[in-house]
Amino acid sequence: MAAAIAHLRVRLQPRDMSLSVKEDTLGTVEQVPVVCPTCRYSGTLPDHDKALNYALVYNTYLHEVRDELRMLVRVEQLFASFPNSGHYLKVLKTRLDRPAWPHFRDDPDFEKALEAEPDLSEFLKNKCARYVPGRLRKVKELVQKWENELDFTLLKCPVCGSGSLTIEPELFDRLVSIAESTLSSTEMSPSTSSHRLVAWFHR
Ligand SMILES: [Zn+2]
Repeated sequence: MAAAIAHLRVRLQPRDMSLSVKEDTLGTVEQVPVVCPTCRYSGTLPDHDKALNYALVYNTYLHEVRDELRMLVRVEQLFASFPNSGHYLKVLKTRLDRPAWPHFRDDPDFEKALEAEPDLSEFLKNKCARYVPGRLRKVKELVQKWENELDFTLLKCPVCGSGSLTIEPELFDRLVSIAESTLSSTEMSPSTSSHRLVAWFHR
């Protein structure tokens, strides 16, 4: 269990899932670096067709989202243990409006509970979506969707056989930032971003 927590990779900011990586972008990478989150195997895939690219991209999202889901469930449990707390973090993360000072009350017991779980405290203060109930709903939907949809037989880890391969984190971050910049700039064509990716990959 401790090992699982050590490997937890929660985004600095929750991913904006509406800006998803297009699996075609991965087609521009000749050798795709992959990792197995279960046994930590890392290697490269020289041959990857469209179906495998799709499975790799969304399995990588799936692993990130599962990590986030674990944290959000713990946040929900913490909040449920303090149903009447006016602690600013609980108030801020559970209301859709923008509550301010009059709604906050000091809550030393909540503080103590938070101090006992440093990773949860860090998540809640720096990495957690603003509105927890909404994000939790969305994240559960995504986990279910991808678990039903993905062909995990394509992704079987060659070493442990039980894990499924994901894209190496640095490359995946790069793919996401390309997806974001492509969508945020009307001038940039997808082929320009593909060239940027190839340039990055071979640097
Ligand atoms: Zn493995």
